[in-house]
Amino acid sequence: MAVDMNVFRGFLQQVRQLPAMAQPTECPDTERVAAVKAVFKERIDAGVASHLEACVHCGICAEACHFFVQTGDPQFTPIHKLEPLRRFYRREKGPFAWLYRLIERDIEETDLEQWQRLVYDSCTECGRCSFACPQGVDIAHMVVIMRRALANAGLIPAGLRAVEQEQGSQGTVFGVGPKQLMAAVEALRVRGYEVPVDKDKADVLVLTATTDILLFHDAMESTVRIMNHLGVDWTIHTCAFEGANFGMLSGYEKVQKAASERIIREAIRCGAKVVIIPECGHAYPAMRWEGANEHGEPLPFEVMAISEFIGRQVMDGKLSLKPIGKGRRVTYHDPCKVGRHGGVFDEPRAVLDALGVERVELPDNREMNYCCGGGAGLFVIDTAERYRALAFDLKRKQVEATGAQSLITACDSCRLSFLAGTDRTQWDRPIESLVELVGQALPD
Ligand code: SF4
Ligand code: SF4
Repeated sequence: MAVDMNVFRGFLQQVRQLPAMAQPTECPDTERVAAVKAVFKERIDAGVASHLEACVHCGICAEACHFFVQTGDPQFTPIHKLEPLRRFYRREKGPFAWLYRLIERDIEETDLEQWQRLVYDSCTECGRCSFACPQGVDIAHMVVIMRRALANAGLIPAGLRAVEQEQGSQGTVFGVGPKQLMAAVEALRVRGYEVPVDKDKADVLVLTATTDILLFHDAMESTVRIMNHLGVDWTIHTCAFEGANFGMLSGYEKVQKAASERIIREAIRCGAKVVIIPECGHAYPAMRWEGANEHGEPLPFEVMAISEFIGRQVMDGKLSLKPIGKGRRVTYHDPCKVGRHGGVFDEPRAVLDALGVERVELPDNREMNYCCGGGAGLFVIDTAERYRALAFDLKRKQVEATGAQSLITACDSCRLSFLAGTDRTQWDRPIESLVELVGQALPD
């Protein structure tokens, strides 16, 4: 079922209020440079140093970044977004530090304001530049370090800070906590679905996301129906259901760790063998690899995106679907974190093939798919609106080039960005969710 655009516009209005809700940061202006340097000092290890040394200034990464492609502005060259990190490395840690201290100026407070715009407003940590770099320079990983440094200096943009502060202080995201989860669960139970909540033991712990509770109700319903249809021993937990992690997006590690530990604790307590991530692109890395990093040891369970889980069931012959779209031409947008970073490409395509649709690929697809433009928290950063719009325009052109009648994805952030673009431009192509389509196609 299509999203009610009036509800979506109401959600957008709420997002626009976020900057006014952010609390002031604690870091005084005079301490910001030192706070940034403290994180650089801690985070520049041999791996980061080798990436910084490996750059040969070829500029190929520029053409890989949707923000550069759409603007032609050299400040959006990916490697340039790391300039303060590189300058710190050269002056403080590199083999010629003594020389660079003589010829290159130190980081100043005005630099931080400029790079705050570059690493938050115009970087979705999508990793396309890292993938394109002939030297293998992992730019996206170093943008994460830049964000951590700026977060330590109190420079998280206000909209993103407001949600990070809410999740850190109340454990909710956009006001959604256990009470709102249970209201959504009760609504599903009224419709006849069994929803196992807070089970003592379960093989699978299923997470959800605020956006599914507030906006994309069908995604949650489809997930419940799929789990029950497959006869999975699963549960959802009232204190560990939120997949979104605004600590990770903002770079504020304390909130990131608390949010991921809450899930890890519950998954271990109930003996889960698998944790399923909803259609929330950034919730996937937050648990799949960042979760283990924060936890300090390998996780004793597997982490799977819902699209990955369904795809494997289809590929293993355990789930057959009713064909829903003979002659219906669709294209699939790979969410960056699940696709390029996580390697989940075949599974969603296997699902689409099982749905009987005519699947056509975007001109840039799989590893080279362009980002939606709203990932890594850009959707809640008001000053990033222009860049999100530019990214959407690029995607729109690519979708139109395929002749697809609809654009399907498996990430709420992508969906939000595309819906905002659709609404702004009055585009006529529906934005569809993979899990929702599967919900419609389950055998009776
Ligand atoms: S593509 Fe790689 S080597 Fe070339 S400028 Fe970018 S980071 Fe440097
Ligand atoms: S990670 Fe993505 S958004 Fe960020 S600089 Fe690289 S290509 Fe651009």
